[in-house]
Amino acid sequence: MLKCSGVHVAYGKREVLRGVSFELEGGAMLAVIGPNGSGKTTLLRAVVGGVGVTSGEIALNGAPVGSLSPRARARMSAYAAQRGGVAFAFTVREVVEMGGLSILALPGLVDEVLADLSLEEVASARISTLSIGQQQRVSLARVLVQARAQRASGGKSLILVDEPTSAMDPFFAHRAMSVLQGEARAGSAVVVVLHDFGLAERWCTHGLVLDESGVVRAFGPIAESVTPAMLEEVFKMRFAQIRVPHDGGEARVTVPVRPTN
Ligand code: ADP
Repeated sequence: MLKCSGVHVAYGKREVLRGVSFELEGGAMLAVIGPNGSGKTTLLRAVVGGVGVTSGEIALNGAPVGSLSPRARARMSAYAAQRGGVAFAFTVREVVEMGGLSILALPGLVDEVLADLSLEEVASARISTLSIGQQQRVSLARVLVQARAQRASGGKSLILVDEPTSAMDPFFAHRAMSVLQGEARAGSAVVVVLHDFGLAERWCTHGLVLDESGVVRAFGPIAESVTPAMLEEVFKMRFAQIRVPHDGGEARVTVPVRPTN
């Protein structure tokens, strides 16, 4: 569904992504991990055509993203930026409805998504009156409406979300990841930028680790790519793994160790 081949991106003379290659199919959920400034947001923007590549190619369902019209892109991908993107004068319901505008109106879809993210009670509230964590739930809801409308119309659907849970409380952070996992299981490919490795390890199928120079240091199944050794290299600090109950069994979760220890 998504194929990046030797992608380089620069802002002016400054190269930010250097030779990024990976492939993602529907059903997969990819955590993009890396230090501040490593190019995670730039990668998502390049995939949705918001920034051009200087060399290499990004293909969406076989077509180079640069060759797709905005409308064609809106039918196969749904993107939630880290900040902004949410019009403050609108109500929650209006913003969530916008997700389906370019595709088709599905009866009940908006209400279904509002319920998935417990937004029913604030549906008539203006975005400007919500907390940042609640606004993140609204951004995610808009993307979910778009992705479900894409799949319902028979299309392939790529979801890209940039730090969707950074201001959410733990309950909603896990709810958000669970809902995104549901989208992947329904056939979408999901790309999620995360700094919370515990969320990545428990919910994502794959990991992609960028270093500070915008080079991919690891890509593959989550347990093989997001390892303490790899994180120590790119974040230049120590990590430890703890075991937590998960899905009736146990999961290993990587946590940072205080730098002076
Ligand atoms: P990340 O999401 O990993 O924190 P970004 O992709 O946002 O990293 O940014 C990567 C680098 O590119 C940073 O050094 C940032 O300052 C720079 N950058 C991002 N956007 C722009 C822009 N529009 N113009 C110039 N430089 C930019």
